Amino acid sequence: MKALVKAKAEEGLWLQNEPVPEIGPGDVLIRIRKTGICGTDVHIWNWDEWAQRTVPVPMITGHEFAGEIVELGRDVTDLRVGQRVSGEGHLIGKTSRQSRSGQFHLDPETKGIGVNVQGAFAEYLRLPAFNVVPLPDAVPDRIGAILDPLGNAVHTALSFNLVGEDVLITGAGPIGIMAAAVARHVGARHVVITDVNQTRLDLAGRVADVTPVNVATEDLDAVRSRLGMRQGFDVGLEMSGNTHAFDQMVEAMVTGGRIAMLGIPPGKSPVDWNRIVFKSITIKGIYGREIFETWYKMLAMLENGLDIGGVITHEMPVADFAEGFQIMRAGQSGKIVLDWD
Ligand code: NAD
Ligand code: ZN
Repeated sequence: MKALVKAKAEEGLWLQNEPVPEIGPGDVLIRIRKTGICGTDVHIWNWDEWAQRTVPVPMITGHEFAGEIVELGRDVTDLRVGQRVSGEGHLIGKTSRQSRSGQFHLDPETKGIGVNVQGAFAEYLRLPAFNVVPLPDAVPDRIGAILDPLGNAVHTALSFNLVGEDVLITGAGPIGIMAAAVARHVGARHVVITDVNQTRLDLAGRVADVTPVNVATEDLDAVRSRLGMRQGFDVGLEMSGNTHAFDQMVEAMVTGGRIAMLGIPPGKSPVDWNRIVFKSITIKGIYGREIFETWYKMLAMLENGLDIGGVITHEMPVADFAEGFQIMRAGQSGKIVLDWD
């Protein structure tokens, strides 16, 4: 089968032939139709320090996918051949206290497809049946291929009650933009999204009913008072991984504000803890998706009018993958979807 492989411990990815994976009794084999390129895949392409430390070579990359089941392991009874599916790319263990108490997303033994185990940028993917999520008719493959990052957005956005609240999102990358659409969908009052990249702010304004703010040129406080907020934002969703953005968020919050942090800062970050303490701010770190609560909520919202389709700015055949990665690296795109048919 064709697969996009980290074949050598150097910059790049290679489209090459690999054996079709053999499935175990509890697995399914999925024929991949569409995949999404993630920032993680770009790290692996670049072969940066994190990738060198984390990814064994050779490795089939990719973890955002939609496809169709073509084979069932002998113990799998609740799925069927021909079913359209996506799935959770975090493979969890069953022995930790967190898993055994049903908090699968907190399992410290979690492994990621396309990072620690062979991934989804391939014609066929082996996945434990436990991880499979069937796609409703209302969710086409192109959206099915980006449920992993939409799930990050949903998990973060639903961490705190947003109904009637003023919400600040820092970072208008694909995940920040989708979180803005979710915040609007569930009934936030004002949703403000910040970035320093005007292309992405323009995209945010087209995809979701939000107020985009370019913090390189605009004053966030002025926007806040223009919108009629007295004290500040009630809820913050940090989706940039940028230390300045986080600082600005803490500054812009009300006392008693709540912050959910998805963005991954580059290292230890200098934070003014005084402000966090005296403002009584609650901070929650977010990793991945709640397994499987996020998936149920996300699919229900998609079936009930949540429209994030506009965040996909490019779709191309997998043969053009190098161009797709180039566009991603330039930071001028939303989601890029590769077509495997
Ligand atoms: P992205 O890199 O595409 O988007 C980040 C955006 O932040 C960019 O548009 C960038 O211009 C913007 N930004 C930079 N400086 C800023 C500033 N001072 N103020 C406001 N915005 C600023 O990333 P993405 O794919 O949308 O993911 C969002 C973040 O979430 C990333 O940090 C990513 O590493 C992280 N992530 C975390 C998890 C998790 O499980 N915790 C999963 C996926 C992604
Ligand atoms: Zn991803």
